[in-house]
Amino acid sequence: MKKSALILLLLAFILNSCANTSEEKTPKKVDETPKNSIGLVIHGGAGTILKKNMTPEMEAEYKAKLEEAAKKGYEILQNGGSSLDAVEQTIHILENSPLFNAGKGAVFANNGKNELDASIMEGKTLNAGAVAGVTNLKNPISAARKVMENSDHVLLARKGAEEFAAAQGLEVVDTSYFFTEKRFNSLQKAKQGDKDKTAYLDPYMKDYKYGTVGCVALDKNGNLAAGTSTGGMTNKKWNRIGDSPIIGAGTYANNKTCAVSGTGHGEYFIRANVAYDISALMEYKNMSLQEAAKEVIQNKLKNMGGDGGIIAIDAKGNLVAEFNTPGMYRATVDEKGKITVGIYKD
Ligand code: ASP
Repeated sequence: MKKSALILLLLAFILNSCANTSEEKTPKKVDETPKNSIGLVIHGGAGTILKKNMTPEMEAEYKAKLEEAAKKGYEILQNGGSSLDAVEQTIHILENSPLFNAGKGAVFANNGKNELDASIMEGKTLNAGAVAGVTNLKNPISAARKVMENSDHVLLARKGAEEFAAAQGLEVVDTSYFFTEKRFNSLQKAKQGDKDKTAYLDPYMKDYKYGTVGCVALDKNGNLAAGTSTGGMTNKKWNRIGDSPIIGAGTYANNKTCAVSGTGHGEYFIRANVAYDISALMEYKNMSLQEAAKEVIQNKLKNMGGDGGIIAIDAKGNLVAEFNTPGMYRATVDEKGKITVGIYKD
């Protein structure tokens, strides 16, 4: 071998070992997220919720119920339960309370009935289920889960959905179960302001609260889930269906990105594809959950004229509650079980 070739070989060897050494010196980027991080966020609706309109008793009642629900979800996750179970069981507590516009406390449609919508989605499989316009199911969120797990479909509506849920063994109640005086009075008030217009919004809308409920969770296996349940909007007509049972609008979950549940003016949430859009901004634009949620709720939705908010959790357990209304009933639980309840903006 020539002398020059030998020198070249020696140089290559030295360079190569330098590269290796410097690689060893640079510590690998460590993901500091605990492996079995868990977390949960719930909402009980957004809207014009102002402290001046609340009595301390009402405030305490809402807070206690939100805390009870959050605690339940956390216990399930802490015991190794799935995010789907946590979402379903947590939403049961909110559905069974007359405080929120879901299940027992659902608002009245123009026809004097309570027509309920719900959906659920699993982030691992991207499976989803939903029911719309059901009138006699005690817990619509469970019907949504049955649609996801035991049917070939994603969304079932009205009578068919009721028949399917009953055949699945879910609790059927008399429609009078959903009567609450407060909601009935709201319908009368909405009808007075209704004149001859087609909707339920103005002028009643001014002090409207979207009392829909929702839950998002991350379990010990790193699986995300989201669920939403609602009575829709007071005085709704023609079997109107909002965003809550629409996957991508009111509910979305994907283990790659996040789980989202929304509350607000459903027509806008559908048009803005709110829940999926947040996930898509994370997936395709590399945004953080907080950035994506802010972009969609404070810019996109707001610029379209849509009121409302979302709760969300990402695959690392980051928790977000973002809304463009004066308030949103909400609670977060971090991996250590610390519960934070909120109602107003600050
Ligand atoms: N988003 C629901 C709907 O439009 C209402 C709500 O959030 O309370 O049906």
